[in-house]
Amino acid sequence: MNSNLPTACMRCGRCCTSFGVCITLFDIKRIAEGTGLKPIEFVTFTPEPPERERTEPAILLEGKYSLLILKWKPKKGRVCKFYDENSGLCSIYNSRPTLCRTYPFKLKNNRLVDVKSRACPVLWIPEEAKQYITDLETYKKELKKYKKIVDFWNSNATEKDTLEDFLRFALNKY
Ligand code: SF4
Ligand code: SF4
Repeated sequence: MNSNLPTACMRCGRCCTSFGVCITLFDIKRIAEGTGLKPIEFVTFTPEPPERERTEPAILLEGKYSLLILKWKPKKGRVCKFYDENSGLCSIYNSRPTLCRTYPFKLKNNRLVDVKSRACPVLWIPEEAKQYITDLETYKKELKKYKKIVDFWNSNATEKDTLEDFLRFALNKY
């Protein structure tokens, strides 16, 4: 990476206002503990896209493969529920999902590289690269456990099974 690049995110807010933010069961647990909210108050789902870079497992919900994402603010397009539009900051910063902690990077051969779907308006590299690498390694381990739970769910799910059913089932597995 180019060492002349800025060493901090520019806090433009684009990544908090343009996407469905994929979350894992571990993110859900952390956010619920950090905010006191019930998972169903901040989790929703979206159909699994035909192509994607990230590897969160697709879950059979109401008979369709879906990804868990954070809810958006009502009538605000894709603005994350937790984005504070006045300050431009995350209102759950200490409990934010791993995707938010590590965006827009992924690990390749133990080094940080930009994700292909990067949407930052500027290039930057994190000064605290070690923390990003630690978070991405933790994510990899959590994803492995998450996948096991989802595989079990998918092999038994019916068309009637809803997000609430999945959350009840999966969050009891910890
Ligand atoms: S949880 Fe916070 S950091 Fe993540 S998308 Fe929402 S506002 Fe942004
Ligand atoms: S889009 Fe990039 S620069 Fe803007 S807030 Fe997100 S990570 Fe930071």
